[in-house]
Amino acid sequence: MRFDILTLFPEMFQGPFSHSILKRAQERSLIEIHVHYLRDWALDKHKLTDDAPYGGGAGMVMKPEPIFRAVEDLSQGSGEGFEVILLTPQGVPLIQSLVEELAAKEHLLLIAGHYEGVDERVRQALVDREISIGDYVLTGGELPAMVLVDAISRLLPGVLGEEESARDDSHTTGLLEYPHYTRPREFRGLSVPEVLLSGDHARIARWRRKESLRRTLLRRPELLATAPLSEEDLQLLAEVRKEEGK
Ligand code: SAM
Repeated sequence: MRFDILTLFPEMFQGPFSHSILKRAQERSLIEIHVHYLRDWALDKHKLTDDAPYGGGAGMVMKPEPIFRAVEDLSQGSGEGFEVILLTPQGVPLIQSLVEELAAKEHLLLIAGHYEGVDERVRQALVDREISIGDYVLTGGELPAMVLVDAISRLLPGVLGEEESARDDSHTTGLLEYPHYTRPREFRGLSVPEVLLSGDHARIARWRRKESLRRTLLRRPELLATAPLSEEDLQLLAEVRKEEGK
């Protein structure tokens, strides 16, 4: 999978992409991340990339010409499986099913806005999809672009090792994940549930599924309406409801 990111602040990406799992994925050529400085496509001698808004008012607007030129350059040769994505608080909210859909693409070009955002014509004529990482406003699209690259990359084959598997992760199954424990067995008067020490894999799997249902019921009950639940899940859920008085 190839990511191209168009930004006015390329240095911001150095840290997050050069550590841990994303660093390893790039070294193993499982993902390619290319960060581009939008100013390189500016036309005038001052390399202007933003200007005052028509109609007046505060803030600057990112000019359309450099963005159009950059996207046209960077999308050359791309076909099926290519998308241009604008990060914006006005976009569709990023949820795990959308991350899964995007992980099936081959090449994504992400546009990080800044200031008041981009000239409307970028949205009208250049962008395939607009994505928001949540109902709040950040200073720029750089952090949202990093979030998107990270969330997508960890779903790509080989990026996570077996020990980091995404299989049971929260939202992947439609539920929140069960609680985790590691050594020591006793810590400050708090102990690890006995079942996890039993070595009985069937009992452990049942406990984990039940705790996953409990977590979801207590924290995000609305997810239960769409999560795919088996007959056994419904039985476990009934037990949890009884135990929790819900
Ligand atoms: N004036 C814009 C509005 O009200 O919709 C907000 C602009 S915001 C200050 C600057 C840039 O940050 C946006 O162009 C976008 O790229 C990015 N941004 C801010 N919040 C975001 C969010 N929740 N999701 C995705 N991108 C966001």
